[in-house]
Amino acid sequence: MNARPIPFDNSYARLPERLFVRQAPVPVAAPELLAINLSLGRELGIDAAWLQSPAAVRAFAGNELPEGAEPLAQAYAGHQFGGWVPQLGDGRAILLGEVVDTHGRRRDIQLKGAGRTPFSRGGDGRAWIGPVLREYLVSESMHALGIPTTRALAAVATGETVYRERPLPGAVLTRVAASHLRVGTFQYFAARQDVEALRLLADHAIARHYPQAETPLDLLNAVVEAQAKLVARWMSVGFIHGVMNTDNTAISGETIDYGPCAFMDAYHPETVFSSIDRTGRYAYARQPEIAAWNLAQFATCLLPLMGERDKAVAQATEAVQRFPALHASEWLHRFGRKIGLAQARPADSPLIEAFLRGLADHGHDFTNSFRDLAEGRLPGGLEGWGADWRARLRAENAPEAVMRTANPAFIPRNHRVEEAISAALEGDMAPFRRLHGVLAHPFDDQPEHADLARPPAAHEAVHQTFCGT
Ligand code: AMP
Ligand code: MG
Repeated sequence: MNARPIPFDNSYARLPERLFVRQAPVPVAAPELLAINLSLGRELGIDAAWLQSPAAVRAFAGNELPEGAEPLAQAYAGHQFGGWVPQLGDGRAILLGEVVDTHGRRRDIQLKGAGRTPFSRGGDGRAWIGPVLREYLVSESMHALGIPTTRALAAVATGETVYRERPLPGAVLTRVAASHLRVGTFQYFAARQDVEALRLLADHAIARHYPQAETPLDLLNAVVEAQAKLVARWMSVGFIHGVMNTDNTAISGETIDYGPCAFMDAYHPETVFSSIDRTGRYAYARQPEIAAWNLAQFATCLLPLMGERDKAVAQATEAVQRFPALHASEWLHRFGRKIGLAQARPADSPLIEAFLRGLADHGHDFTNSFRDLAEGRLPGGLEGWGADWRARLRAENAPEAVMRTANPAFIPRNHRVEEAISAALEGDMAPFRRLHGVLAHPFDDQPEHADLARPPAAHEAVHQTFCGT
């Protein structure tokens, strides 16, 4: 075993201290491993023997700092449901440090649920195993679907009780991210008119995520493009983030902060799961509009770095206004592939939209209705649409192959995620492991696991999800 099992190479900890607070994780009573991601560990260059040892479990519980870790809690602010909150920050997350992975990419390693920090406000700094296992399953599923996302390296039970509506077993998630820079990180310093910090953050973001960018305007344009593509990809798998607050919008373009997120079963554009989203602000179909709103907040933060005010405002506005066209183009590409078109054209949009309208009218399952198209099976009531579709497909090469790689057979359906969590609460991790294993290959048929592809029966359907904080 190496003396330094995690090859830390920290850069955020070198930034001025007002960007964060140095804070060690708070040890827990009795760490016990729930899940470990060995392939991600390999990719990060973590010592394989160590990763499977009790020392790793202690490290991922926050009980023992691996050598080279420089733990800290990051400062950030944010708009939550449109309302400005000047100080949020890592209230229950501790950044251990960064590694440069085997592909040369810098990645953060963070413990989520690692105890109180100066940013905890009224919170206990902890998480219970429900949201930890949910984030593990859903983020790993997103990765397998090819969608930019933070990853899950480990989940460890703490042996401590967390009090929510009822006493629940605590857990810590080890999250890996391209970075934890959020729109809200920039907002924190913009609100304090700390231009020097904004400049450092912009430089840090450019170096880590968009090295081709030379100016803050280039950075803005790159983030607009990354978010437009990301949200189009969410739309293409029926993903609803649930809390698209500016503090949950990553500058890297990764999906971050899986709280009350969910994948739709039956398609409807107004679908909302989150119990706290009473007005449907973050409904499925509103996600592109909200992402653009969040990017406008980011643009505002960068203005002090962009030179003469009027010109900067005009350039920033233009950059954010590129969002709808960038999103529409990626949406068309993704949904075109879902109906078998390798290169959809704008004239194909009505055909895609008619299919979605048909799904909504008949309450059909989003995932399975698209998956069935590759076998030539049309959802009931869409036979008329099928004639137009087949006519269009005649101009295409191998549309079935395109559809099979664009339409997953397996998504983390809510009722299955809940089932895995309920079993884990009884000490049985087998349903979690089976679901995780199947979701790792979402485009394979896996007929022996067909039950995991079925939409919920009426009595199994989950209509609400919770932040779990
Ligand atoms: P989230 O809803 O997870 O995006 O978190 C919003 C804010 O609340 C962030 O500043 C979190 O760090 C903080 N927070 C969430 N849960 C807790 C908790 N249990 N203890 C302390 N802070 C928390
Ligand atoms: Mg958050």
